[in-house]
Amino acid sequence: MNPAAAPAVFLGHGSPMNTLEHNAYTEAWADLGESVPRPRAVLAVSAHWYVGATAVTGMARPRTIHDFAGFPPELFAYEYPAPGSPEVAAEVVELLAPTGVLTDLGEWGLDHGTWSVLAHVYPHADVPVVQLSLDGRLPVEGHLELAQRLAPLRAAGVMVLGSGNVVHHLGRMDWGRPDDGDDWAVQFDEHVLEILTTDPGRIAEAEQHPAYRAAVPTPEHFLPVVYLAGMAVAEGATLTPFAKGYAYGSLSMTSYRLG
Ligand code: ZN
Repeated sequence: MNPAAAPAVFLGHGSPMNTLEHNAYTEAWADLGESVPRPRAVLAVSAHWYVGATAVTGMARPRTIHDFAGFPPELFAYEYPAPGSPEVAAEVVELLAPTGVLTDLGEWGLDHGTWSVLAHVYPHADVPVVQLSLDGRLPVEGHLELAQRLAPLRAAGVMVLGSGNVVHHLGRMDWGRPDDGDDWAVQFDEHVLEILTTDPGRIAEAEQHPAYRAAVPTPEHFLPVVYLAGMAVAEGATLTPFAKGYAYGSLSMTSYRLG
């Protein structure tokens, strides 16, 4: 029997503390996990695995990586013991092979971009998880093209999960405004929303927006949403936003769904 088609999603992950907290965003992530058919596996494209190659985690038991500093001990003690899936990793390698994919067997695992949201989507860590790195050498168009090749994973029952933030400027964060966005942050987020809900293939045009430099000072948190855009392009579809909001002035928490 063929597996049920899985949705592809982009989740705005925000602070790693969302792992341990319960708020409107974490509720939306939990609702997602409860409302969609259980996938065979999750392929996570996390902002926090931004390297000079396209790599996948091929190990059967990926470790939980605590890739941050300055957070409480509870967060460093958190473990997300989901199994990996060498089988799904091999499927990803097959789909992306022409770009020279490396299968990373030991050097990475599950980083907090992945587990801070999956802690709520699949709190029992019982869905296998594979990570795909972001190749920092590629322009936005390169990621858009790569993502289109991942489109068959949906029909194969694999949930593609992009985890980042459309607007992410740590240097402009204001801890006193946990639920606000600066004007430039809102303007850029709305611009991206307009593209993704009408013609996701235009996502690279976001680089021309006057607030792009402020919203995307480095590309890694923005690129995961480009993967969702590429998958939408492959299906001739558009994206549906959910859990829209802002944090600390300079983060957008807006999430998107395909399917
Ligand atoms: Zn992050």
